[in-house]
Amino acid sequence: MDITPHLKKLFPEGTIGPGSGKYQGECISFCHALADFDSIGDTFQQKKKFVDLNGIIRANIDNVGKGFRVGDVVITSDGVDAAGRGAGHGFVVANLDDQFLYPAEANWFNDKRVHYGRKVAKTDPHIYGVIRAPLKLDLGQCEVNYNVFINNQPRWNLKFLDDLQKQILQWTGNKLRVNFFPLYTKCENWWYEVVPFPFDGLYCKVIAKSYFDNTVIPLTFTSQNKFPHAVALIIRPDQWEGTIFGKQNMTEIGWTNPCTNPGQIQISSAEFDLSPWYAGVRLINHALPHELAHYLHFVNGLNDTTHQFDNPGNRQLEQVFSDLDLNRLIANL
Ligand SMILES: [Zn+2]
Repeated sequence: MDITPHLKKLFPEGTIGPGSGKYQGECISFCHALADFDSIGDTFQQKKKFVDLNGIIRANIDNVGKGFRVGDVVITSDGVDAAGRGAGHGFVVANLDDQFLYPAEANWFNDKRVHYGRKVAKTDPHIYGVIRAPLKLDLGQCEVNYNVFINNQPRWNLKFLDDLQKQILQWTGNKLRVNFFPLYTKCENWWYEVVPFPFDGLYCKVIAKSYFDNTVIPLTFTSQNKFPHAVALIIRPDQWEGTIFGKQNMTEIGWTNPCTNPGQIQISSAEFDLSPWYAGVRLINHALPHELAHYLHFVNGLNDTTHQFDNPGNRQLEQVFSDLDLNRLIANL
C-alpha cells in the first residue's frame, strides 16, 4: 500500500517539517509525527543503540521482520563519517516495491523541509535498521490497494473483474481497491493434497500449497511489477478434485488456504464455457469475493464472519466486506 498521497495532504512537499523548538524540521521529528516511538537521541550512535534495543537491525529485516513494511521508520548512516560521528538520518517508508523503498522524510537536504520522491534500494549499505512502531496517522481516508492475480480470463471476464473492483470499493466506502492482474498459466497438471475441511472432521482435496509456492506464485513476478497479495486460480470442474471426502454430493466450489502469503485461492467454475449459474449465484462473481473475504479476515487476524453473513440462505457479501477492519489491513499489508 502506498501512503504517499495521504502524507502529502498532511505534510505537503517543501513545507517546514513538524516538531518544536530546535527539533522542528529534523528528520526524526518528522518520523515521530507519524509513528509512536520514544526519543532516540541526536547522534547516530544513540540511534543505533535504540534500534539494537527496540528495533530490527538490517540483518534481521527479512527473517525476523518479514521484510520492510510501509510505515517502518528507517535509520540510516547517511552523513556519518568514518569514525561514526554524525547524526545519521531517519525516514518513513511511504511506499515500496521489490527493490526500493520510497521515503517520506524531512531535512534530507538540510533544509528542515518535508520531501518525497527519493528512492532507496533495500540493499543500500547506509540502512542500519528499522523501528516498527504503531502509526499515529488516521489512515481512515486512505485507499488500500490490494493486488490479486487471476488466471483464465476470457474477454468478458475483464468487464466482470472491473465491476467487482467497483463493487468492493462501494462495499468498503472507497477504501479497498482490489486490482486484478492476469496470470498466464495453463490450467492443467495441478498437484493436489488432502486437507481438513473446516467442518465436522471432513477432508477435501485442494491444489497443493507447494504447487502454488513453486509453480504459480513465481509467475506473478514475471509479467507485472506488482506485489501479489493474493493469487486466485479458476479451475474447470472436470479438473477439480475438491469433492469432500465421504460426502459425494458435497463439492466444494471455492477454497482459500490460510497461513499463506500471498493468499492462495482456488475456485471451481465452468462459467467460462457452461452455464454461468450455480445454486442461484454466479460462481466467480460470488465465489471470488467470498474467498477473498476469507483471506482478508485471516490476514487481519479477525474472527472470520464470512459464513455468518454470506451463506446459501443469506447472501450478504456487502456485510462481509464492510465488517473488515481496513485500518488493520493497512497495517498488515
Ligand atoms: Zn467460505
